[in-house]
Amino acid sequence: MTDAAYVRVAVATPVRKVFTYQVPPALAGQLSAGHLVEVPFGRTRLRGLVLGSASAAEAQAYTVKELSRLVEPEPLLSLALVRTLSWAADYYLTAPGEMAFAALPPSFRKSGKPSQARQKTIVRPGPELDPDVLEKLRRRAPLQAKIAEDLLAHGERELSQLRDLGASVNSALRALAKKGWVLTEKQSHYRAPQEVNLPAPAKITKLTDEQDAALQSLLAATEASQYAPFLLHGVTGSGKTEVYLRAIAHCLAQGRGAILLVPEISLTPQLSFRLRARFGSQVAVLHSGLGEGVRKDEWWRLQKGQARVAVGARSAVFAPVADVGIVVVDEEHDSSYKQSERLPYNGRDLAMVRAREEGAVVVLGTATPSVESYLHAQDGRSTLLQLQSRVDNRSLPEIEVDDLKRDMIDPIERIHTVGPRLAQALAETLDRGQQAILFLNRRGYSSSALCSACGQSVRCINCSVALVYHRAERFLRCHYCGYSIAIPDRCAHCDSGKIQLLGLGTEKCEAEVRRRFPGARIIRLDSDTTARRGAVHEKISQFARGEADVLIGTQMVTKGHDVAGVTLVGVLLADLSLSLPDFRAEERTFQLLVQVAGRAGRGEQPGRVIVQTFMPHHESIRLAAKHSYEEFFQRELRRRQGLGYPPHRRLMMIRVSHIQEQTAEQFCGQVARLIRQEAKGNCQVLGPVTSPLAKLRGRHRFQMLLKAASVRFLHQMASVVQAQCKPPAGTKILFDVDPLDML
Ligand code: ADP
Ligand code: ZN
Ligand code: ZN
Repeated sequence: MTDAAYVRVAVATPVRKVFTYQVPPALAGQLSAGHLVEVPFGRTRLRGLVLGSASAAEAQAYTVKELSRLVEPEPLLSLALVRTLSWAADYYLTAPGEMAFAALPPSFRKSGKPSQARQKTIVRPGPELDPDVLEKLRRRAPLQAKIAEDLLAHGERELSQLRDLGASVNSALRALAKKGWVLTEKQSHYRAPQEVNLPAPAKITKLTDEQDAALQSLLAATEASQYAPFLLHGVTGSGKTEVYLRAIAHCLAQGRGAILLVPEISLTPQLSFRLRARFGSQVAVLHSGLGEGVRKDEWWRLQKGQARVAVGARSAVFAPVADVGIVVVDEEHDSSYKQSERLPYNGRDLAMVRAREEGAVVVLGTATPSVESYLHAQDGRSTLLQLQSRVDNRSLPEIEVDDLKRDMIDPIERIHTVGPRLAQALAETLDRGQQAILFLNRRGYSSSALCSACGQSVRCINCSVALVYHRAERFLRCHYCGYSIAIPDRCAHCDSGKIQLLGLGTEKCEAEVRRRFPGARIIRLDSDTTARRGAVHEKISQFARGEADVLIGTQMVTKGHDVAGVTLVGVLLADLSLSLPDFRAEERTFQLLVQVAGRAGRGEQPGRVIVQTFMPHHESIRLAAKHSYEEFFQRELRRRQGLGYPPHRRLMMIRVSHIQEQTAEQFCGQVARLIRQEAKGNCQVLGPVTSPLAKLRGRHRFQMLLKAASVRFLHQMASVVQAQCKPPAGTKILFDVDPLDML
């Protein structure tokens, strides 16, 4: 508790500022960091979160108003979490209130009645309720007798389950409770979120030597109760999950909590299932696929300490777990940890910050570390743990690269969905009664141009990223610097005249597989087929239970699934991810290939992977096929250095949007000029350009990309912009520090 006269409050508003309020006499000595309060703001009242006390000097800078009221008597967030949120708001240049409220269920933002957890009433037989009592009741109070019998038969019931017994159940219960014949208790509402019907996970009795060594390092670190970052680099199927689970169990035994971040919890029913099998109701799952009510209940269970393990996607880094002992980031390389729109932050990076504030261990786990994370492990900023072989010494799948150029004969069909080699392998797999996954990266679909003779995509001469085709204007444009050209007649690489736009979709692929393999049971997984909540869960579970033979889909099929029956993985067109308009396209492609390949051969039968591509000799593809992470990393690091991309230099994107196109463009130009002038050559400004998503929700978008030697310099440039550029009314300006997607 602070007895300060003033407090700093993150107010639920997009204003990029922490506000100071005076503590009213009634609340003197009662406020501390993490308290939810209400404050006067302009002419209204808004919710806010107390970040800490403010000095009288801070308060004197302007007229300070008095805080209106305390909404919840207990602080909702721990000091470590409040500190994480403040750090995040500073680093990502967001409004402190926006960041702080990202840690709370949405309803907490709005004024009104406090948002308590829903509760249920549990009824149990009391100790005095014996057969004699029952006999007496049968004669005198039949409804009470019915209730008592029901309770004796079931041991315990929820009040709602007793309602069917009669019209006046409530008064009957009151009578029973008065005599001590039944006991009632209020419990917070726990509903296991989205149960999946999967076979019970096999009990793992003995760790492999590598797993054991990694685990011992983690356990030793948790004992120290100090910040300790690790990178767990383990090949696909090496049993990373088991290592996480045991480390988490250890923290629970120490009385501390845990956070497990996964790229997309809705894509990993198996993981939630395994967690619940291991930790029961200690686990709270936080994800957007859950209804608002369930999500709030899960949040409260964590807040009240009824659950101690939070599992979820990026925002679970803000889970209200007290005294966190370990934070695990599974598949740390995954770009979905980055939120780009509205409130840009990276959940993976904030996991390190949270762990630092908690004095906890943080484990980034993956088979394909991001260049950034691996570099950290190389230069000693984190400890590298390695699992180099699969459990049971299963072999990594054989990856065959199939050169599409040979088979690409049909100029009308353009690209074969399933080439002859993959078709043959699929036929054999189906004959053996095994399962296959066909993966098509659809982002970038039809939006880039490549040469079908040599496989090179048409690239920017300045930025070395693929150019994006703009259908309306019919030209190719660089999304970093704005360079644009018409579709060239000849390939700059091999001089052939075979430049074409890529066009291939999962639907077309599904149709082709159906036509060629009429008996096969096919599930298609992409954003079209999974719009309904829970659909992904269902489909993946179905496939995991072996109720389908072929799973066709986009990125969703590459993530973390562990299905023993899968012996074939086909990558339909690896080039699609290479032609993404992003300097990380090479890295993404390598990661995707290794990850999707890793779905094959996880059971007794060895796996086979066929990668169809126009560029069989491309580094990303060649090295993924060899499973050579280390070599890929070294080359990629050098390449990035040469081009001045992270981790060598740091990036910030600035986006301006306005309903009037001209206003947005002019203001964006003004910002760019100011930065160029202020930076004095210490910061490269690419753009401004129209954003790839040029218009979103009625707003025109322009952006620029800043490259500098340090984040601190980028922050300085942002302050300059905020201090000196007066945006026209209705303008939004967004800073994205360490951007991933440039959309
Ligand atoms: P990763 O996340 O490294 O790809 P998983 O954690 O999914 O790998 O483990 C792969 C499979 O191996 C899972 O089915 C898991 O149950 C099993 N497994 C993990 N560790 C062991 C072990 N020590 N002994 C036997 N099976 C194991
Ligand atoms: Zn070419
Ligand atoms: Zn460019």
